[in-house]
Amino acid sequence: MSLVNPVFIDKIKRLGAFDINACFSCGNCTAICPLSDGENSFPRRMIRYSLLGLEEKILSSPEPWLCYYCGECSDTCPREADPGSLMMALRRYITRKYSLGRLADLFYSGLSSLTTWLLLTLMGVVGILLFHSQPNLEKVEPLSFISLDFLHKAGLVLGVFIGFFSLAQLLVMVRHLSMGKGYKRPTLRGLMRVLSREVFLQSRFRECEDRSRHLPHLSLFWGFSLLFIATVLAFGVDFFGFPPASKILARVLGLSGGILLLYGGGYFLLRRFRAQDYYSRRSHHTDWIFLLLLLLAGFTGLLLDLFHLLNLIWPAYITFAVHLVLVFDLLVSAPFTKFAHAIYRPLALWLSGY
Ligand code: SF4
Ligand code: SF4
Repeated sequence: MSLVNPVFIDKIKRLGAFDINACFSCGNCTAICPLSDGENSFPRRMIRYSLLGLEEKILSSPEPWLCYYCGECSDTCPREADPGSLMMALRRYITRKYSLGRLADLFYSGLSSLTTWLLLTLMGVVGILLFHSQPNLEKVEPLSFISLDFLHKAGLVLGVFIGFFSLAQLLVMVRHLSMGKGYKRPTLRGLMRVLSREVFLQSRFRECEDRSRHLPHLSLFWGFSLLFIATVLAFGVDFFGFPPASKILARVLGLSGGILLLYGGGYFLLRRFRAQDYYSRRSHHTDWIFLLLLLLAGFTGLLLDLFHLLNLIWPAYITFAVHLVLVFDLLVSAPFTKFAHAIYRPLALWLSGY
């Protein structure tokens, strides 16, 4: 049985839903939402649950993940209660609650978040200082500065860390969702539909009136994916005897991925700076940090390529070190921050029978 908890809403307000108490439950937001349907009817239901403090019902509902934060409900709310921001705040709350050992808490409140980011960055810097070698000073050779062997071992450790936490947290999500009303028995066909339409094409963004976020969001997804494929190819050449031509392909894919990442990250950062609509007006510090890390990681990657090409010795090695620290920060925090949308949303779509 769910218990009413009147102070629950204060936690959600601190995560970005500042005006939600103004709601008088007219239902206009649900009527206007392009992604809401008869079965998954939001955001009003989530507003009621939040105001009543029905935490279990929120945790067992896929609806917060079915919202793409287009802001149409906020634009038309007669009370300016900003229901779109409530849905975003709920996703932040759920990310914290699903995280193993509540590790995500470290990233969401001011002081602990600052300390965590500083500690992670310090770990990255110490790793570089401990494991770098005397670089080639005649010609830029990044792998003379940080060895390939070290990069692959560090990559494997990070991969296991991310994989373990992502999988465990997905299981936590499945456990919660399976107790909710919106749960549908997962099918292979449903999974294929989610992967093809929502993961690879992200087509639900196009159902929003403002479709401008579709392409940049798609760029972010494909930017990451191409960089991941490029890393796997490079790993295959060095350790599993992939044909050497794979290395050229890896470079092309890596470069394309970096450009897509810069475009997507730059678009969203600029939009948040301008703060002209509901979507970008209520930015949480986790949004800024995620976007800045993303953009800086993409930028330093491309800058490294440029310095490499021009054989600018020290600028190249310093940029390489900064790039590695940024990538470390981004990856190690991935299962606990906004990045985790990438795993929670497809699963919620799948288990809600999308
Ligand atoms: S958030 Fe606004 S539109 Fe939605 S039910 Fe409340 S008052 Fe109505
Ligand atoms: S922000 Fe957009 S998708 Fe989300 S609940 Fe509001 S109208 Fe629906």
